[in-house]
Amino acid sequence: MDRSTLRALPKALLHDHLDGGLRPRTVLELAHEVGYDGLPTEDLDELEAWFVQGRSGSLERYLEAFRHTVAVMQTPDAVRRVAYEAGVDLAADGVVYAEIRFGPSLLTERGMTREDAIEATLDGFAAATAETGIALYAIATALRHQTDSRAVVDAAIPFLGRGVVAFDLAGPEAGFPADDHLPACLAARDVGLGITLHAGEADDLRSIWRALALCGSQRIGHGVRIVDDTEFDGSAISGLGALATRVRDHRIPLEVCITSNIQTGAFPDAARHPLGALYRAGFVTTLNTDNRLMSGVGMTDEFALAAETFDLTVQDLGRITEMTLRAGFGPWPVRRRLIDDVVRPAYELV
Ligand SMILES: [Zn+2]
Repeated sequence: MDRSTLRALPKALLHDHLDGGLRPRTVLELAHEVGYDGLPTEDLDELEAWFVQGRSGSLERYLEAFRHTVAVMQTPDAVRRVAYEAGVDLAADGVVYAEIRFGPSLLTERGMTREDAIEATLDGFAAATAETGIALYAIATALRHQTDSRAVVDAAIPFLGRGVVAFDLAGPEAGFPADDHLPACLAARDVGLGITLHAGEADDLRSIWRALALCGSQRIGHGVRIVDDTEFDGSAISGLGALATRVRDHRIPLEVCITSNIQTGAFPDAARHPLGALYRAGFVTTLNTDNRLMSGVGMTDEFALAAETFDLTVQDLGRITEMTLRAGFGPWPVRRRLIDDVVRPAYELV
């Protein structure tokens, strides 16, 4: 499959961080606009190279990259622009449906409220949708090592039905159990927000169990450590433990981000990544970008990598795309229309 074919295929995306997907030029221009002078360089080529270099660098460098993107997203205009450009860039990459997540608490350094940040994001999404037709929804993220998760949910609730579809926990897994944030998860579930928590990216299986069993997570961000609860015969999964059985049989979608997993060291390379084995063993696997800027990837790249590494056919990619849309938190009529009228005809799925 050549890249232009893959780019043209309709794709759906469930796990993409708004502050991880800025254009380098936008980082530079917004830094000037908001008077942020902390960038490592003022030269566009050097800045791009700096973000690229960060991919193979240390965790410290990775986190520093987010400090810069978050620093320039502190006004409604800046957030609106970043959200608009995210939608336009995804649409140009063939994405027809995306749920983009961000932490509203991170955007309050210069006076915006969490609600202002959400409003500005949704305004940017609406502009991108008007221009390209892409369906865009927001997921409100709280950080595991912070204590304001309940306030994040409270800020998101007024936007339920207006574009915010779910609640997420991100940040360090080890030492910060998801159920520390049980009140936030319960408040989100109470009003009908979807729940998708980062779990099983770096920490062990218990992190996945806590997200599912204690917090009511309906999808799992990453979740790839579920492979630790399986047995292999060669490259195929031949047996499942209790938790893996539950994840597969209850159809819990895994938001898999192959490139991101390699860069954070979760797996040494694509060949040793479990996406192919999990997909063939019947898990609901979705393909995602995580952080397009820091990882230097788009959905076409992730599709190309998965197809090449795991011998996936166009039909496999179509099935994954349909599973992804079925796993979405956006309105079902929107997702069903995309499955029936856009995805199935394009992949010629029966
Ligand atoms: Zn993530």
